Amino acid sequence: MALEEYWRKRDFRETPEPAGDRPGPAPQAADLWHRLPQGQRYCVQMHRATRLHYDFRLEHGGVLLSWAVPRGPSLDPARKRLAVQTEDHPLDYGDFEGVIPSGYGMGTVELWDAGTFTWTRESARDPDGQISRGDIKFQLSGEKLAGEFALVRIVDRAPRPAGAAEAQRSFLLIKKRDEAALAGHEAADHDGSVKSGRTLDEIAAQGGGDPRERQRARRRGAREAVHAPAGSLGVAPARPPGPAGPPAGPPPAAHPSLDPVIEEALEELSRMGAAGSWRIGPRRLRLTNLDKPLWPDPVITKRQMIDYYVRMSPYLLPYLQDRPLSMQVFPDGITGHSFWRKDKPAHAPEWIDSWLFRGEGGSKTWIVVNEAATLGWLANAGVVDLHPWHSRIDSPQRPDWAVFDLDPSEPATFEDVRDIARLVKVALDHLGMRGVLKTSGQTGLQIYVPLRRGPDYTRVRGWVEEVARAIGRVEPDRISWEWSVSRRAGRIRIDYTQNIINKTLAAPYSLRPGPGAPVSTPLRWEELEDPRLRSDAWTMATIWERLRETGDLFGDVLGGDQDLPGRWAPPAA
Ligand code: MN
Repeated sequence: MALEEYWRKRDFRETPEPAGDRPGPAPQAADLWHRLPQGQRYCVQMHRATRLHYDFRLEHGGVLLSWAVPRGPSLDPARKRLAVQTEDHPLDYGDFEGVIPSGYGMGTVELWDAGTFTWTRESARDPDGQISRGDIKFQLSGEKLAGEFALVRIVDRAPRPAGAAEAQRSFLLIKKRDEAALAGHEAADHDGSVKSGRTLDEIAAQGGGDPRERQRARRRGAREAVHAPAGSLGVAPARPPGPAGPPAGPPPAAHPSLDPVIEEALEELSRMGAAGSWRIGPRRLRLTNLDKPLWPDPVITKRQMIDYYVRMSPYLLPYLQDRPLSMQVFPDGITGHSFWRKDKPAHAPEWIDSWLFRGEGGSKTWIVVNEAATLGWLANAGVVDLHPWHSRIDSPQRPDWAVFDLDPSEPATFEDVRDIARLVKVALDHLGMRGVLKTSGQTGLQIYVPLRRGPDYTRVRGWVEEVARAIGRVEPDRISWEWSVSRRAGRIRIDYTQNIINKTLAAPYSLRPGPGAPVSTPLRWEELEDPRLRSDAWTMATIWERLRETGDLFGDVLGGDQDLPGRWAPPAA
């Protein structure tokens, strides 16, 4: 009965994986898995599917209890690893290696390690009780792994709000300190099957030994190559919408349909010389140096940036409306000097909305972007990044969302950022809260948690700090609290200090001053698992195709209906 989920997910006419519904093939003398004593076996399968991970499996109760470990088990006690429980697998799976040509788990499997284990401590007395409590300890004796490990559910056992099922499946795999511990150990450095001696790439190239399987895998590969959607992650090359200089040419078909007033204004922009007077509905503004390159190689001109921001206005304005704006200005393009502008300059047209804020440091008049024409004016002034406040002018001390800003620094990688984003998701699921995810457009990811307006910045910041510190206890070697770049080498920063008045992040769909004009792009949570995901995956040129496919994925942050939890229980580690 334990295998029902396993069977439901697979078509055994298609996959070479064992069906597990009858006694397996007669054990062969040379078969490592079947030589191991029954009832005490474990294995680790390196599995390149949507994303590379390691499946850790323990034999218990006639099945293989299973966890997917994205970064693989480590012998280093400091390297606690996220392990997501998956469906029980049949015992014969412990011998499986090869290519899964289609369907669930499609990809290549290497039998990375196998051996025996014994339960230790409380798990020795009551394995079933400890399994249901999500806290098990065991001693491994395998080809690559050895010594005592613990698998501990991350969240506590308090009653959980709905939507926390995913959190229930999240564990940490932790090496205990003993003579088998090995600092710096990484599974990826030990690629090589304990069954066949082959590396994962060799298995992928050779298949599972069955030529029909390889043929199926090849056919599948060919199909995928033909049908890969042009707008999917990272596939479309970064290219500006047209060559430098007028005219900009007909807009690509993927552009959204626009208000006729804006459509007409963009028409006029494309026909204008290097400068001129421009009309968007009732607004008039003077455009200058339209063919000045703002991005080099490929060249993107100021005319193109103005076109982008005005064309994006239906998506962008909801996130700017009624919010004071900070802006980063690059008068000579992204390779030249830049400065931050937080006030409305004296030469700005009078029709641009503004708001006077009396803060501790004095009074300042801020720009508030409530219409497409303002976006046109800003772009003409060389504004590349748009950074709206998290709060609105009618209640400036009370933000509409909490933000988790995740940024790597060398040698931490985007993979580390993804892992931390998953941990933030686990924490939010545990609290029964929703977060929305976007790329920063540069190197990081950002999670916005929509709130019902009420708590002030101090409270919101305190809550984000608590969650971030709880995650830090889980992943201490990868989280940094240090703000300054020099002091956070190799770590991920969860910057809770962003939750403060007039500290800001780039708006969704804001351009960023990076190669190819990347765009801060809202994501679905599942896209975290896409190996092609990058923070700068979408650009001024490719975002339109993406929007046509996904629509705006960020709308959930507006009109937030979530309250901060009264209490936040840190994960047991
Ligand atoms: Mn797997």
